[in-house]
Amino acid sequence: MFDSLSDRLTSVLQDLRGKGRLSETDIDTTCREIRIALLEADVALPVVRAFVKQVKDRAKGAEVSEALNPAQQVVKIVNEELVGILGGETRRVRFAKNPPTVIMLAGLQGSGKTTLAGKLARWLKNQGHTPMLAACDLQRPNAVNQLQIVGQRAGVEVFAPEPGNGVGDPVDVARRAVADAKGRQYDVLVVDTAGRLGVDEELMRQAADIRDAVTPDEVLFVLDAMVGQDAVNTAEAFRDGVGFSGVVLTKLDGDARGGAALSVREVTGQPILFASNGEGLDEFDVFHPDRMASRILGMGDVLSLIEQAESAFEAGQAEKAAQKMSEGEFTLEDFLEQMQAVRKMGPIANILGMLPGAANMKDQLGQVDEKHLDRIQAIIRGMTPAERADPKMINGSRRLRIANGSGVGVTDVNQLVDRFFDAKKMMTKMAGQFGL
Ligand code: GDP
Repeated sequence: MFDSLSDRLTSVLQDLRGKGRLSETDIDTTCREIRIALLEADVALPVVRAFVKQVKDRAKGAEVSEALNPAQQVVKIVNEELVGILGGETRRVRFAKNPPTVIMLAGLQGSGKTTLAGKLARWLKNQGHTPMLAACDLQRPNAVNQLQIVGQRAGVEVFAPEPGNGVGDPVDVARRAVADAKGRQYDVLVVDTAGRLGVDEELMRQAADIRDAVTPDEVLFVLDAMVGQDAVNTAEAFRDGVGFSGVVLTKLDGDARGGAALSVREVTGQPILFASNGEGLDEFDVFHPDRMASRILGMGDVLSLIEQAESAFEAGQAEKAAQKMSEGEFTLEDFLEQMQAVRKMGPIANILGMLPGAANMKDQLGQVDEKHLDRIQAIIRGMTPAERADPKMINGSRRLRIANGSGVGVTDVNQLVDRFFDAKKMMTKMAGQFGL
């Protein structure tokens, strides 16, 4: 899901890199490309329009942050707007003051309601709740049985109509399930309801009747993220026909373009509470708009890094350092300053862990040695300002003095100075290559 959107957006934003200032034309071009990327991902037109307008206004309104370069600022704006259309804050389930909390599931047939009932039950159990499932899909042959199997796998009780009584009345089953849950002190009841292949009045009426009978604390509309543009119409039909307090996206593991997921919150005004990304009971989680947005932007947690950098670096500090690097004037004093600013952001392993691809390098991250960094800082602090500014003057006797003063061996000092010269050479070369 979102792969091609993610690729498109990332490359649009990458094109901005290395620009010192963004002109109006740069912003217009970027916004046009973002618009195309969103439309190609099947995001609903009104949502695309509002999104692009916001990004454009904000980018042109130059929310200038001295710690960020223009490209980073646009990334930040796009990210914040994405978080916004996905709902902003994470919305948690609202539990009733007087149990049982009733959670009703509604949605088309095949959207993943029954599977979700099992996932929710498992999740609720893990949260310390005592959930029960109610089988109120009496339409689809085998639906009750399927829920019972799901319940068994999740290790939760299922309230089902007695077999052999004909089709039965789902409203009645729902009502009795609530009474049973209350009587036996289950604290959450998840009500599975019937879906149809398409939206129809009969289906809506039945769902509305169940809703009236059990007055649910949450009605969750279950939306298969694989369906394209049609998802928005279905969501609107359910909003008008039954009403819902939240959305669950299913099949996010599929290869659909993701437009439905990106549109549903804006179109219906209701938040996404959970996301399902597989058939397994555990392939399910609370939906976090911020995490989803950074996943779409393909940037790991780079954005939280940007935010932390904004607060850790003094205005203009990073640019000054970059400028000095490119001019070959970077000194050990600058190095110390940068290192202190970076370390203000938290342990290095955590900072590195936020970079894209970091999930694949957990082992190496565990080995980042903070003590080694302490040692480097101690060595630089043991130097005089003149030595920091011009490490070439650090001869043999100075190295010995620095080593003694900072409690390390002479080899440590040698290593640091040598590495500094190597790094400086490389920075100058890189700066030349990238035209910085
Ligand atoms: P219902 O008719 O709404 O109750 O839908 P079901 O729960 O029976 O799901 C329909 C099909 O979608 C089943 O084959 C499920 O295994 C599958 N399914 C449900 N959720 C997911 C999901 O998140 N990812 C994938 N890949 N399949 C899912």
